[in-house]
Amino acid sequence: MIQKKKTSAKVDQFTESVIREMTRVAMKYGAVNLAQGFPDFSCPSELKQAACDAIAEDINQYALTWGDRSFRHAIAQKVRWYLGLDVDPERQITVTCGSTEAMAATMLATIDPGDEVIIFEPFYENYAPDAILANATPRYVTLHPPHWTFDQAELRQAFNEHTKAIIINTPHNPTGKVFTREELALIAELCHQWDALVFTDEIYEHILYDDRKHIAMATLPGMEERTVTINGLSKTYSITGWRVGYILANPELTEAIRKVHDFLTIGAPAPLQRAGVTAMQFPIDYYNNLAALYHEKRSTFLQILDQIEIPYSIPQGAYYVMADISQFGYSSSLEFAYYLSQEIGVAAVPGSSFFRQPEDGRSLIRFCFSKRPETLQAARERLLQLRQIVRA
Ligand code: PLP
Repeated sequence: MIQKKKTSAKVDQFTESVIREMTRVAMKYGAVNLAQGFPDFSCPSELKQAACDAIAEDINQYALTWGDRSFRHAIAQKVRWYLGLDVDPERQITVTCGSTEAMAATMLATIDPGDEVIIFEPFYENYAPDAILANATPRYVTLHPPHWTFDQAELRQAFNEHTKAIIINTPHNPTGKVFTREELALIAELCHQWDALVFTDEIYEHILYDDRKHIAMATLPGMEERTVTINGLSKTYSITGWRVGYILANPELTEAIRKVHDFLTIGAPAPLQRAGVTAMQFPIDYYNNLAALYHEKRSTFLQILDQIEIPYSIPQGAYYVMADISQFGYSSSLEFAYYLSQEIGVAAVPGSSFFRQPEDGRSLIRFCFSKRPETLQAARERLLQLRQIVRA
């Protein structure tokens, strides 16, 4: 009798998401969950109302596959005032099931076997499996602590005639790095030189510290044509469970991406897209308040790390901090993360999740501080136990 392997060679090449696994571990041990990146506070009440209204108004069937028309037009308006980009909502915007689908659909729509995609390491966990699923050959360029800068020569060397695209993520998960204009300009120069695309994940575009400004790759000279901008409502509006994201790209790329998106998911939840119109029309104050809120959360959490004497890199954006756990002497960050959940009662993501080789993230752990003050206080009380351990 013939016997066939039931699963694909592709799935053998990556593991289940450790970020999502740590949420389950947190639930199992009753740990304060500072692992997966989601807020534990309410989204704006106007958004809840808008979603309820949309369902009451019977927006309960498929939206247009590439996105509810009013939502796409509202996105175009918001992108115009915030990024200064003029995007045609009919030909250049695709609404997706989160920016997660956006990145996967973009890669599936653009990559052929043998094409290389450059990824900065550490990286958001999803990019490597995305590359595998899309048959891309990933090439990694290191971001060096403490400021998570890259070596220009290493980046130049990563580009070649097979380079189809480079993935950037600014503000960056997990490091909190915000790419500078100079760094983006060098990436742009190399993309022009090698005729490469940029897939830029800008989901944390409004979460910036110390007066930093978000610079969208598509706004650099000549880059709009070769940039696919990926974004979503999850982080800016505290609605990670709604699963609404969007892609801005030139009409040719949009056409290809829309085809993939249609066959992957048909569309994002219709009533939640309609409610997204309300989000897109929020005034600038909303974004200023969001940045101020996160500024406070970052201060609170960095104080906690200072109190327990764990070194860290100060995040410039996003809502994570990478902390150095080498003093605890664990041989793997996964082991330390399990210890932290089970014994201390705080869940975090092991640094190894953000590297190809788990050893490279051995001394790192990522905390998410997108939490209510009382959650951060509970985490403080538990994490203080580490002080005794350090000093023992
Ligand atoms: N991109 C980055 C950099 C993230 O950190 C996350 C979630 O943590 C996502 C994408 C997922 O976004 P979405 O909820 O829009 O799928």
